[in-house]
Amino acid sequence: MKKQLMEMLESRKDEIIQIRRHLHENPEVSFKEEKTAQYIADFYQGKDAEIETNVGNGYGIIVTIKGGKPGKTIGLRADFDAVPVDEETNLPFKSKNKGVMHACGHDGHTAYLMVLADCLIQLKASLPGTIKIIHQPAEETPPGGSKGMLESGLLDNLDAIFGIHLFPTDPAGVVGWRSGYAMAGRTYFKLIIQGVGGHGSSPHLANDAIVAGSYFVTAIQSIISRRLNPFDVGVITIGSFDGKGSFNVIKDSVELEGDVRYMTTETQQLIEKEIHRIVDGIETEFGVKCQLTYTADYPPLYNNPELTAQVKASLESTNDPDIKQVIEFPMFSGSEDFSYYAQKIPAAFFYIGCKPKGVEKAYFNHNPKFEIDEDALLVAAKSVAQVVCSYFQIND
Ligand SMILES: [Zn+2]
Ligand SMILES: [Zn+2]
Repeated sequence: MKKQLMEMLESRKDEIIQIRRHLHENPEVSFKEEKTAQYIADFYQGKDAEIETNVGNGYGIIVTIKGGKPGKTIGLRADFDAVPVDEETNLPFKSKNKGVMHACGHDGHTAYLMVLADCLIQLKASLPGTIKIIHQPAEETPPGGSKGMLESGLLDNLDAIFGIHLFPTDPAGVVGWRSGYAMAGRTYFKLIIQGVGGHGSSPHLANDAIVAGSYFVTAIQSIISRRLNPFDVGVITIGSFDGKGSFNVIKDSVELEGDVRYMTTETQQLIEKEIHRIVDGIETEFGVKCQLTYTADYPPLYNNPELTAQVKASLESTNDPDIKQVIEFPMFSGSEDFSYYAQKIPAAFFYIGCKPKGVEKAYFNHNPKFEIDEDALLVAAKSVAQVVCSYFQIND
């Protein structure tokens, strides 16, 4: 079955590219991917698999491929949303939707998985187990499409889940893995400080919200420098400090918004606790009232070590000419809602190099000039196929 699967994928390389180009030309942002979902659902029409649409909190699709022999159940996930970016490439299949672009490679994720799924459907008589193909919407926008997919209950009995991401850090042919914590978690917070307004000449009759807010901005940086273990990683950024007023009027209230990133759940808990402590201190010290909204969005992505070791071994053991190099990937400070699956199911998320040929330094994901080497799509399909075969111990 494995040999046949690889040959089928190879013969359908152009089709994968065509699907990717169609998706690229017609991108839709998170939670609005109606046409994309319809296109994917249409692809599975008439195929011998069970398909569920509108899964979760958006346009999720799950295709269940029941093998001819009993065995474990695994999930293969690809996201299909685009980002609100105005495309600046000169590709003939450039985005037709102004202000929306497949600048994160999710078009490629979806294209390879559709064709791989179809091949698996055709070979399912030889498959010892069940594969759930998870076409997931809304990866880019919290609360994230994966949450809804999980809450549907349709993924309750998965023994393992796999996903990939295209990154242009390496050329096509390079596949990267990382064991344990691999991508950052992120939190959004908002702090409203309510003081007492007054005349600039009489601060003793007021409670200056700007002074309290400024203290907060500098104090929270001491969490990173003084509270966090120097071997752990965390970032706190205040991106918005709204204190617009008049030069001689003491401002009665200010609003701050910020972003926190961390590589482990423990760091997330520490930073959250310390921010609350500083906010409590500001209330006492400055006599103001604080309202803190602290929303942990995506958790850090944790790759199951045993499963990742299996992925690594299986990719290294292949002599497929398209999978040229298997490397350990560095930690990555971006976030991924695949992390929600990984909290519940043993998971392995790995990386597929897609750097365009002849380019010194590629534009990274979310850049309006982001491009991929489409050879990477077959690498993705074959790598995941290889991992699936070795998980089910299909050797030839
Ligand atoms: Zn992205
Ligand atoms: Zn992405």
